[in-house]
This record gives sequence, C-alpha cells and structure tokens, in this order.
Amino acid sequence: MNEIPPLASLCDPSAPLEDGHGRTVRYIRLSVTDRCNLRCTYCRSGMETFIPHESVLRYEEMEQLVDMAMDMGVEKVRLTGGEPFARKGFVGFLERLRAAHPTLDIRITTNGTLVGPHVSELKAIGLNAVNLSLDTFDRAKFERVTGRDLFARVRESMDALLDAGIPLKLNAVAMRGFNDDELPAFINYAMTHPVDVRFIEFMPMGEGTRWSDACFWSAPDILTAVKEFVSVEPVAHEQRNGGPARLYTLSGPSGPGLGRLGLITPLSSHFCAACNRLRITSDGALRTCLFDDKEYRLRNALRHPKLGIEAVRRIVALATRAKPIGARILERRHDAVAQRRMTAIGG
Ligand code: SAM
Repeated sequence: MNEIPPLASLCDPSAPLEDGHGRTVRYIRLSVTDRCNLRCTYCRSGMETFIPHESVLRYEEMEQLVDMAMDMGVEKVRLTGGEPFARKGFVGFLERLRAAHPTLDIRITTNGTLVGPHVSELKAIGLNAVNLSLDTFDRAKFERVTGRDLFARVRESMDALLDAGIPLKLNAVAMRGFNDDELPAFINYAMTHPVDVRFIEFMPMGEGTRWSDACFWSAPDILTAVKEFVSVEPVAHEQRNGGPARLYTLSGPSGPGLGRLGLITPLSSHFCAACNRLRITSDGALRTCLFDDKEYRLRNALRHPKLGIEAVRRIVALATRAKPIGARILERRHDAVAQRRMTAIGG
C-alpha cells in the first residue's frame, strides 16, 4: 500500500518534490537530443525513427525547466541523450545554465567522441563531473560495437578531462562474450587513474534493441571475477553520495588503486529506495522511473499560451507524487524493462 502522498508540493510552488514513498527528488536527468553519432549495436536497432526537430525542446525551454526544478529543490542536473555534444549549441547551453545557477551540480553523460575540443570550456564552466561510456579498451572491438573508429579520440578525451581536473567516471555496459575477457584492462585503468570504473548490468530495452540472455553478466559474477585479480573493499553506503553504484576500493600487489570499481545493478538488485531522480526526454516528456512507461507531456503545457511553466510545475509535482517503485514494475515485466529505447529516454 502506498503511503498518503504529501500535498504541500501542490499548494506551495517552491515546496520540495516529495513522492508517495517518502523520497524527495533532488536530481533531474535531461536528455538534450535523441540523436547520437555512434551506432552501438546493443543500444540502437538502426531502424529507429527520430523525434522530429520541432518536437525537441529548445534550449530556452530546457533552461525554463531547470529554473523551475531548482525552485522545487533540485540540486543536480545531468545532461544526457543520445549524445549531448552531437546537438549544436550544447556548450553555449551549459554556459547559460552555469551563469544562471552558480551552485547547481551540472554533470554530463557522453560517449566522449566529441568532447576533446571543449575540455577547456567545460573546465571554465565549472562542470561538476563527466560520466563517459566506454565498453571496451580494444580499438577493433570499439569499432565493431559502435560502428565508428573513434576509440583513440575517446581515450584522448579521457586524458584531457583528467588533466583538466574534471572528475571523471567510466561506465561500461557489462556484456558476457564482449567485454568479460577485458576485466584486467578495466581493473588496470581503475588502479592507475583516479576514476570510478563502473559496470552497468545490460538491460533489455524496448523498440527492437538487441538483447540476448547469453550476454547478461551480472554484478555478483563481475565481483567474483574481479576478486581473482585484486582485493576489494566495499565503500560504506553513506560515502557513495546517494548514487546507484555499489562502490569498492581496490588493492593490488603494488598497493591501493587510485580509482574504484562500481557496480550498477538495475536488474539483479534494485536501488529504488534511494531513487531521487526524474527524467525528462528531449521531446519534453517527464518519466518518473526508468522502468515506468508512463510519460507526462510537459512540452505541450510549456508551449501552450494559456498554460506555461506554472502548469508544468503542477504536472511535475503531481507526477512526482505518483512516482512508482520501479522494482515492482520490473517484477511484472517479461520482455523489455522499458518500451522506449535508451537514446530516447536519456540513458
Ligand atoms: N551518448 C551518451 C553516452 O554514450 O553515455 C549518453 C546516452 S547513452 C544511451 C547512456 C548509457 O546508456 C551508455 O552508457 C550506454 O552504454 C547505456 N545503455 C544503452 N543501452 C543500454 C542497455 N540496453 N542496457 C544498459 N545500458 C545501456
């Protein structure tokens, strides 16, 4: 049974965004585009239709949404996609966000292929962190999985971000038969760089993305395999900053690692109790849970001459009250964990 949801957020426009399960939203993931310059075989079918340009939120509209979210207690925004740097004007958008909100925690999730030329601008903006997706340390495999020979560019971006002192996390989708044989390379990177190297369990997403049970490499299995190479020590929950990753410090024959191992386990062990996030797709749909296909159309309200941002605020507050426990939705699903593909939802 749901607890009775708080009403404060509906009556008071600046009340915190509380849901019916005692969770408070502090974090928005905003997808700036559903387009991507990579063709990752597990993420995109190659048959997908893209959101028409006129339906994609304009940057000014995203800025309005972030202003509103901050009024409602949001402290952190992650810009994602698709590939955020593939959208024209993305860095200018970041500059305006930072100018409007000096204290906002602004992070980006990127494939790293287009970041290199912008590192000094990102540093000047005071970007809080970059999560960079890299599933392999092998150039030929990178090209095979992404369809592009851009591994060297990604590695250069990683070095440039670290040289600039921008906090970096590495995200790899764990896939048996694809990158399980590269565990030593991932561990070596975490040992020698101050980077959290995080494996994300592969999820069956909708819209025809490729999935095979045989590829699933669970977090417990990854941890067992890691222990064959290094010793691991779990990081206490309160030191994880509320993130979804279970973190481990690493230690090898030459001493402790500079970075850590992270395991993100949406399937084998959920993290719903600590979930403090909402997602907004690039066409302005609010999703309160990755696994819930219910979407609230913010864009129509935002663009409506008689509604606008105040109506959006009420929709967001109401939707947040109904934010579900994703694990309960997952229990009832037998096919994909969500009907839209990751690039459309904003991974
Ligand atoms: N372009 C950016 C990037 O590459 O990080 C942001 C979007 S991308 C969709 C976000 C993340 O979702 C990537 O790390 C990608 O590997 C991951 N992803 C895509 N499909 C997935 C799936 N089926 N299961 C788990 N992670 C997935």
